[in-house]
Amino acid sequence: MIQDIRNWSFDDYTRVVVYTDRKISYAVRELPADPKNGKPPRIYLDFEHARLAPELRKELAINDGLLRRARIAQFDRDTARLVLDVQRIARYHVVPFSGPPRIVIDVYGSDRKVQVPGPVVRKAPPTGEDPVGALLGGGGSSVPVAKTAPPKARKKVIVIDAGHGGKDPGAIGYKGVYEKNIVLAVANRVAEQLRRRGHRVIQTRDKDVFLTLEERTVIANRERADLFVSIHANSARNPAAHGIETYHLARATDKRSREVAARENASGGGDSDMDALEELLGALRLSNKLNVSSTVARFVQNNLKLLLAPRYRDTYRDLGVKGAPFYVLVGTDMAAILVELGFVTHPKESKLLQTSRYRDYLATGIVKGIEEYLKKLPKVPI
Ligand SMILES: [Zn+2]
Repeated sequence: MIQDIRNWSFDDYTRVVVYTDRKISYAVRELPADPKNGKPPRIYLDFEHARLAPELRKELAINDGLLRRARIAQFDRDTARLVLDVQRIARYHVVPFSGPPRIVIDVYGSDRKVQVPGPVVRKAPPTGEDPVGALLGGGGSSVPVAKTAPPKARKKVIVIDAGHGGKDPGAIGYKGVYEKNIVLAVANRVAEQLRRRGHRVIQTRDKDVFLTLEERTVIANRERADLFVSIHANSARNPAAHGIETYHLARATDKRSREVAARENASGGGDSDMDALEELLGALRLSNKLNVSSTVARFVQNNLKLLLAPRYRDTYRDLGVKGAPFYVLVGTDMAAILVELGFVTHPKESKLLQTSRYRDYLATGIVKGIEEYLKKLPKVPI
């Protein structure tokens, strides 16, 4: 049953989400413009074994410059068809999710290169509602939203994403410590340090609230961020496993990377289909973004090592820079990395992760890595 269709429009970026009552298979196809019949180019999704819920809105007027409208109909007894009338788009991707089951269609108006950020021009969402609040299903947003910058020379925008939160504790470690609390403490330090150094920072969460993975990426894409840094802590069945690793977006480099990605992708009860994600990665025309991401990952991993290796000889272990298809990274339209701060399941590392001093070092290492990367970005006059 197709239950609902919603859309969120931002500058140069539109998200359409189709909510269903269970996992559903679908096919994505494109149709060129048909000027004779006055038809624009179209993208359509055929949902198999699908019926429309009686209360479903059959048509959404979008008219945001990227999509004109979305409409859905029962195509035949067994198939529901969603058609997106295109105004102007550069690319799009479709990713299925569960918890709740839904298909997310992200549409981009241009192929922005991460090194050449455009000016920040945000327009109010056409519905007049707060898009993030709406996504959260509540009234107001609990997510801090940065004020629109009025810059002549645009500051670099960095999104700091503390993993998990609220009802999602993340990994549960030694003596019952929660990943969500550790990563929030470090993320808040990273954000504070970056702000003090004059950078513009957006946090997906700065307190203990629940966000889905797609809400995190909506925030990042809406703010047209230059860099997305997701902060997590690791866990393993083997209590001896420890160390720090930084991921960038790629196909999984090895079996364990794939497992870590599968676990982090499952955040919040939802999970995304790993095969679909890897397929999507293959299709992404974003090799530039992928290269840049691995550079940032190396800078961060290296700066963490410089700070921690001499001070924590007993516990520090460099697990290196790896690739994996994290959804939170796939969904962002920018350079993105995911830092695994250490293992909450390792008694000593877990204890360190709960100390203020160690958290400060972790934050400083991440900030230094980010700044090393930002210095390499060309200054773009606007
Ligand atoms: Zn995590």
